[in-house]
Amino acid sequence: MYPVMLNLQGRRCLVAGGGGVALRKVEGLLSEGAEVLVVAPAPIQPLQELALRKKIQLTKREYRTADLKGNHLIFAATSDRTVNQQIFEAAEKVGLWVNVADEPTNCTFHLPARVRRGALQLVIASAGEAPFVVRRLRKFLERRFGSEWAEWAEAAARFRSKVRESGLSSEEQQRCFDSFFAGTVDEERITVRVPGVAEEEAWLRGMEKKERGKVEPASVSALTETGSEKGFVSLVGAGPGDPGLMTLRGRQRLMAANAIVYDHLAETALPCDLSAEVELHPVGKRAGHHPVPQEEINALLLRLAEGGKRVVRLKGGDPYVFGRGGEEAEALANAEVPFEVVPSVTAAVAAPAYAGIPVTHRNEVVRVTMVTAHESAKENGAQLRWDLLAGDAHSTLIGYMGVTSLPRVVKRLLDHGMDPETPSAMVERGTTSRQKVVRSTLCRLPGEVKKAGIKPPALFVIGPSVTHADRLDWFGSRPLFGERITLIAPDRKMADELEINGAEVLELTLPISPAARVAIDALPLTGCLLKSADEVDAVEDERGGRSWGTDVVAWCLGQETGERARQLGWKLVRDLENTGTETGVIKQILEFRAQQ
Ligand code: SAH
Repeated sequence: MYPVMLNLQGRRCLVAGGGGVALRKVEGLLSEGAEVLVVAPAPIQPLQELALRKKIQLTKREYRTADLKGNHLIFAATSDRTVNQQIFEAAEKVGLWVNVADEPTNCTFHLPARVRRGALQLVIASAGEAPFVVRRLRKFLERRFGSEWAEWAEAAARFRSKVRESGLSSEEQQRCFDSFFAGTVDEERITVRVPGVAEEEAWLRGMEKKERGKVEPASVSALTETGSEKGFVSLVGAGPGDPGLMTLRGRQRLMAANAIVYDHLAETALPCDLSAEVELHPVGKRAGHHPVPQEEINALLLRLAEGGKRVVRLKGGDPYVFGRGGEEAEALANAEVPFEVVPSVTAAVAAPAYAGIPVTHRNEVVRVTMVTAHESAKENGAQLRWDLLAGDAHSTLIGYMGVTSLPRVVKRLLDHGMDPETPSAMVERGTTSRQKVVRSTLCRLPGEVKKAGIKPPALFVIGPSVTHADRLDWFGSRPLFGERITLIAPDRKMADELEINGAEVLELTLPISPAARVAIDALPLTGCLLKSADEVDAVEDERGGRSWGTDVVAWCLGQETGERARQLGWKLVRDLENTGTETGVIKQILEFRAQQ
């Protein structure tokens, strides 16, 4: 396969077919300035609109061989394989480049996946042999290359013209380019920044001065600070996992941010409708990777803010509850960066509530204690008053980061005389579709937790009100509990109905944004509710992401939708009849689940 970049400006291309696949090809071609001719007997509405707005030429009839004439590229995207085959053969015969949708063997060119940041394009291809790798790589690069690369590429182009006009020798010009690259690219973190005019001048002057042998090159760092206004940092609590538990203020700040620095636990709270323009900086722990050290997170916040950005530091739960938010605020205060704190629901309040445990109860529990089991289990450093904790029968004790230290905690409490039969529970991934609850008594809890294979993030809850979970388990007992389903927005009514029945819903807006990808990948998906063949096409590129097992169910409203999903290779397709009501849809989903 020979890679080329085609200049399609003003050149005509033919798209045969009038569905969602054709539409996407048309959009891609238009964005590169091509003239587009679409031939289709019954084109979908968006294509008709494009024709009305004179963006494309639309011929409403079946394709004919004569349509090929005068085009540079041919796209066959009709729903009829024989027609597609005819187009392929006819194009081949006259030597035209042809691409048949979903049929790699009937293509004389493939469209690579690409990540586009302004003039800069990263293109990925596998000669059609391992598209799953291509998709994952594209997503990976989408995340790693923020929108700042577009600005940077623009600055690089401007700088290049300046250098070219400077009259410097070609060797000196190369050195200017080296300075630009070294001064603006952080190779380790794969990030870039746009240099100021003064900096660029300095790089150029550096060369001139050297040339005359008088002065050393100007110091870059001395100039980087000029003219940059201070930004603003919001330390925002993401809530305990259920994206609906994020606060209104938190969401407002996210939607207005230029950059978001987020923890692993906050991933589920990233809004799916966040613009692709927002820089995303993951700094949390992920399996197999070390978390970014706290000092580096502080430095990142300062750097972003000092570049004049509106920054959100998004942290799981509440930012000041066992989240090192205090340290980040200190760093900001020391650097005189203006900031605010947007508190949120902490796990110790939310996870028990979702597990059916009220953390206080009249006449029964009159005190709540939140502890970090992890820290206080250490020998030196701040310690817990085990005696006080063990001696209070009318309280709830909630422990963060308590999976590995649980046996030690229980031993200390028992040593200090706590009743071994005290009702106790452990809640893993509380408030999410992956919530797991183990209930037992204090002395038996460590064994039960081990048996159930509970993993962090989880917290323990010790106290008499744990017994209420017998009757108050409203969350885990809902019929769709455990389902994590995507839905193409807007369809709040359907989302509501799914949620009330216990499903976790991800409302995706199209095109799917990088933030939505992070949110989707945060926990395993179980299904996608799809309402048209176009929606099936829209999520197609996402399939193969980290959270998409082969057991993700395509819940398809309408026959065409299901057909498209099967055609694209979904393993589990469930056809839902369009009854016109949300409850009708839910009923069918429940019936399918009952059959399994
Ligand atoms: N600032 C966060 C806590 C961060 S410490 C808050 O306010 O919730 C991380 C610990 O929080 C985890 O180890 C776990 O003990 C607890 N935690 C966070 N989210 C949780 C959840 N959804 N379910 C259970 N425990 C959770």
